Amino acid sequence: MKFLQLKQALEARQQAGEMRSRLCIESAQGKYLQLANKQLLNFASNDYLGLANSNVAKQAIHGQLDESGFGSGASHLICGHQQAHHDLEIGLANFVERDAALTFSSGYAANLAIMQSLSKKGDLIIADKLNHASLIDGAQLSCADSVRYAHSDLLQLEQRLKQSSQNKFVVTDSIFSMDGDCARLPEIVELCEKYQAILIVDDAHGFGVLGKSGGGVTQHFGLSQQQVPVLMSTLGKALGGYGAFVSGEQSLVDYLIQFARTYIYTTAMPAIIARGNLANLNFLKMHPQLLTGLADNIQLFKQLCAQQKIPLLESDCAIQPILVGDSLRLMQLNEILVQQNILVGAIRPPSVAKNAARFRVTLTAAHQAEDIQQLVSGLAFAFSTNKTQ
Ligand SMILES: *Cc1c(COP(=O)(O)O)cnc(C)c1O
Repeated sequence: MKFLQLKQALEARQQAGEMRSRLCIESAQGKYLQLANKQLLNFASNDYLGLANSNVAKQAIHGQLDESGFGSGASHLICGHQQAHHDLEIGLANFVERDAALTFSSGYAANLAIMQSLSKKGDLIIADKLNHASLIDGAQLSCADSVRYAHSDLLQLEQRLKQSSQNKFVVTDSIFSMDGDCARLPEIVELCEKYQAILIVDDAHGFGVLGKSGGGVTQHFGLSQQQVPVLMSTLGKALGGYGAFVSGEQSLVDYLIQFARTYIYTTAMPAIIARGNLANLNFLKMHPQLLTGLADNIQLFKQLCAQQKIPLLESDCAIQPILVGDSLRLMQLNEILVQQNILVGAIRPPSVAKNAARFRVTLTAAHQAEDIQQLVSGLAFAFSTNKTQ
């Protein structure tokens, strides 16, 4: 029986301490999550600005419900593209200071679209080894050749660029989702210019977080649309909503509408979601203090961890990983945290490399100083109770 193989794979995963399971959360997203009679202090979400349950988004959705109903009814190219999508795309393009934007139902779909439609047979995709799974899958979906370079190793990137006379694409996350470090984009831009490669940047964790008004990684480094011609940003993280968008010059958007399969052959995001996303975007524009609140929380967390000698990976952003190594030990430590009503991300292979299991703490603008103090004392307690042999 075929399913025997499935059962064996499940068993192997269980034995390695890498079986994944889903928490069934009984509350809205926020600083606290309700879980089976427990209220957990939440440091696991990507809701960096605390907007996932914002009143402005909820009001915008209420206001839109009667007008546009619930479902979008069709794909964008048939009759699912509504005024709300149009308004959202204009708002997003303005916000990231680029000519045009195209919304997708998810970042995963957007990355598949970019990789599948832009590169052709005979082209070469050159990707950072730690890129997000959706970029890796997109490269597989494309007919182009693809190679990787060691994480942020720009010498190796240059070698790859130099070695090939093909039409080239360089692809990178801005902030790496499991490590929290930032790509050396200004240098990558220079290399792309030198070797005439097209740069594709996934700003899932930078949009709404980096830059003086949250415009993302291009704003942070002052990079133009010409320097970063293809930018993908998501709406499900800092913006607290759902969906994603690709931005750049008008011809890029026009091309994706015609040729991106995950744009064409899928139902449009419901208009109420588009309205909620736009409401949160406008709220962020008017409340830049959310960004300073988040930055202060990141600083406080790093400072308290240093005091408690909790070693962190090199990150200045909302993603703060603590490397543990062994998956089983990570889950024991995690259990101690949950007993203290603290929830952090516990990330194991295959999401990260073998023996690189880690806590992935995410900070948000919704946290208060005392929440972060509680988190760090919880972590210190867990590490002191469960020491490495
Ligand atoms: C979350 C994420 C995505 C996928 O976005 P979704 O909207 O959740 O599908 C893509 N790239 C990176 C780096 C991400 O962290």
